[in-house]
Amino acid sequence: TDPLLPIQRLIRSVADFPKPGVTFRDVTPLLADAGGFARCIDALAEPWQGSGVQAVCGIESRGFIFGAALAQKLHAGFVPLRKPGKLPPPLVTVEYELEYGRDALQARSDALKPGERTLIVDDVLATGGTLAAARELVERLDAVLVGASVLIELPALGGRSRWSGEAPVHSLLRY
Ligand code: 5GP
Repeated sequence: TDPLLPIQRLIRSVADFPKPGVTFRDVTPLLADAGGFARCIDALAEPWQGSGVQAVCGIESRGFIFGAALAQKLHAGFVPLRKPGKLPPPLVTVEYELEYGRDALQARSDALKPGERTLIVDDVLATGGTLAAARELVERLDAVLVGASVLIELPALGGRSRWSGEAPVHSLLRY
């Protein structure tokens, strides 16, 4: 049987949230399940074992939860990529387009060392705008991008096509 099935069964799909026509993937039942959460972090870490990841960048806010646990598993440090107004200066900021309007991600301007081998983590890859902004932030800090991991990919939204270059994007589950 598929080893990811117990993880998938702990993700709740909620129709018409946060607005009509959208199906929201709720990961909080997975986080609340000790065994499921542990298996999920093991599975997220697996492709990166031996790749020398030194820093894990987690995207606010669910990327903090998965990213911090993954950082521990990979014996790497954790760096939060935050929404505007949360971190004190000096900062690096990357703006990106949302379906309606704009948003931004910020990091401390010395959050990553030049050349530091860095992995980006988030819960969901949808249109890919958020992950692309995180990638730009890592590049602006002169770190080396090893890749990105997401728990859930929504392939119909084409997020993967907004990710360029060599570094791989891994997703555990696809809806
Ligand atoms: P994107 O920029 O790829 O369109 O959207 C990805 C961001 O939106 C991620 O940071 C993710 O947390 C959030 N997101 C989009 N759809 C969902 C969803 O169905 N469930 C959850 N938990 N987050 C979502």
